[in-house]
Amino acid sequence: MSGRFVIIGAGPAGMRAAEVLRQKSPEADILLIGDEPHLPYDRPPLSKAFITDALDAARLALKPESFYAEQRIRLKLGARAEAIDRAGKTVLLAGGERVGYDRLLLATGCSGRTLPATLGTAVPVHYLRSLADAERIRAALRSGGEVVMIGGGFIGLEIAASARKLGAAVTVLEMAPRLMSRAVPALISDFVRALHERHGVAFEFDARLKALARGADGRPLVESARHAYPCDLAIAGIGAEPNTALAQAAGLAVEDGICVDAWGRTGDPDIFAAGDVTRHDSPILGRAIRIESWQVALNQAAIVAAAMLGAAEPYAELPWLWTDQYDCNIQALGLFEARLEPLLRGDPAAGAFSLLGLDAEGRIAAAITVNNGRDMGVLRRLATARAALAKDALADPQRKLSDLLKAARSG
Ligand code: FAD
Ligand code: NDP
Repeated sequence: MSGRFVIIGAGPAGMRAAEVLRQKSPEADILLIGDEPHLPYDRPPLSKAFITDALDAARLALKPESFYAEQRIRLKLGARAEAIDRAGKTVLLAGGERVGYDRLLLATGCSGRTLPATLGTAVPVHYLRSLADAERIRAALRSGGEVVMIGGGFIGLEIAASARKLGAAVTVLEMAPRLMSRAVPALISDFVRALHERHGVAFEFDARLKALARGADGRPLVESARHAYPCDLAIAGIGAEPNTALAQAAGLAVEDGICVDAWGRTGDPDIFAAGDVTRHDSPILGRAIRIESWQVALNQAAIVAAAMLGAAEPYAELPWLWTDQYDCNIQALGLFEARLEPLLRGDPAAGAFSLLGLDAEGRIAAAITVNNGRDMGVLRRLATARAALAKDALADPQRKLSDLLKAARSG
C-alpha cells in the first residue's frame, strides 16, 4: 500500500514505525510530526549517563539527521498536533496548518505525572521526561547539595543513584511501603533498598506529602506528614500518564491509554497507535496491557507499521525492560503478577541472582534478573516454550538453563 502516512509523536515508537513503513513501502509518503525540537532520541540515558557522564545531547539521537533524508521521511519537529479531523482525514497543527493522511499513527507517548498545586508553589519541583528536563536537572545537580526525590519508582531510583554518584545527599520519599512496587515483587524491592542504603540514600516509606514550602533560611522544604526535609533540589518521579487527549477528542476509545488490538488498530480503520500511549491486546497474556518500556515501544511500533500496510502478524511478545542503578543491572521479563509463584535462582547475598515467576502449571511466566542479564535470553526462550519445568532444577544455579531448554524442547 502507498499513500500518505502521518505519524504523530517523534519518539522511539514514531521513529521505528517510520523506518519500517519505508522498508516495506518504497512509495509511501511518510511524515513524522513531533512537538519537541529534537530529532527522535533515547530517553533511558536521561536519568543515567546523561546526568553522571555529562553525555552530549547529540549522542542521544536514535538516528542521525541524514537517515531521515536518505529514507525520505519528512520531519516536522517543534510542531504540535492539536486535533484530528477523522471525517476529513486531516491533522490540525498548532499555528493552523492542516496535513492530510490516508493512514495515521498515534505515538504520543506519556507525560510525567505532576504533584497537585495544593502542596504549594514556593518550591520549584523538577520532573524528568524530556531532554530539556534532563538538562535542567543536570545543571542543578552540578552543585551537589541535598536532593529530595519524591517517588521511589524507576525515575526516582535512577536519579537517586546518579545524584549520589555526583556527590549529592539524597532522600527518597515513597508513598508505597516499598520501592518500584508497581513493577517488581518485594524481594527485589528489598534488594534495591539495601543497595541504595549502602550508597547512603535515606528513605521515608508510606510518605504522605504535606507541603512544599521555604524554611526560615529560604531553602526549599519538602514536608511529609512525618518530617520536614530542607533541601537544595526537589525532584518528583511519581509516574507517567499516557498522552491520550488527541485520541479522546477524536472519539477513539481510551482507557488509561489508547485502546488498540495486537495490530495497533483503533476503532477507526485508518488510525493506529503504538508505544507507551497504547493499551494493547497481548495475545501472550490474554488481556490488554499498557507498558512503559523502550523495547516494547520499538518492537510494537514495527509490527503496527507493518499492519498499517496490511500485514497480518500481531504484536505478541512478553514485555521486557531494564533499569541501571549504580553498577546494578535489573531486567524484568513479563509481568510479575501476584498469582505467580516466585522461585529464586541464586543467592541475593551474592549480588547476582534471578527471580522466576511460575504459573499454576509450573511454566515461567515472568522473570527478573539482578546482575544476571546473561540468563535473560534463555529465560525468554523458556517462557516462550511454555514448558512445565522441574522447580529444583530451575532453582539450582549450577544447572544450565540452556540444558533445561534443550530438554524441554526435546520432551
Ligand atoms: P515517547 O518517548 O514519550 O515519545 C512520544 C513523543 O511524542 C514525545 O516526543 C512527545 O513530546 C511527542 N508528542 C506527544 N503529543 C504530541 C502531539 N500532540 N504532537 C506532536 N508530538 C507529540 N524504558 C526502559 O525500558 N528502560 C529504561 O532504562 C528506561 N529509562 C527511561 C528513563 C527516562 C528518564 C524516561 C523518561 C523513560 C525511560 N524509559 C525506559 C521508558 C522509555 O523511554 C519509553 O518507554 C519510551 O520512550 C516510549 O516511547 P514512545 O515513542 O512510545 O513515547
Ligand atoms: P513509576 O510508576 O515507576 O514510579 C512512581 C513511584 O512514585 C511509585 O512508586 C508511586 O507509588 C510513587 N508516588 C506516586 N505519587 C507519589 C507521591 N505523591 N509521593 C511519593 N511517592 C509517590 O514511575 P516513574 O515516575 O518512576 O517513571 C515514569 C516513567 O518513566 C515510566 O514510563 C517509566 O517506565 C519510565 N522510566 C522507566 C525506566 C526503566 O524502565 N528503567 C527508568 C526511568 C523511567 P504508587 O505506586 O504507590 O503510586
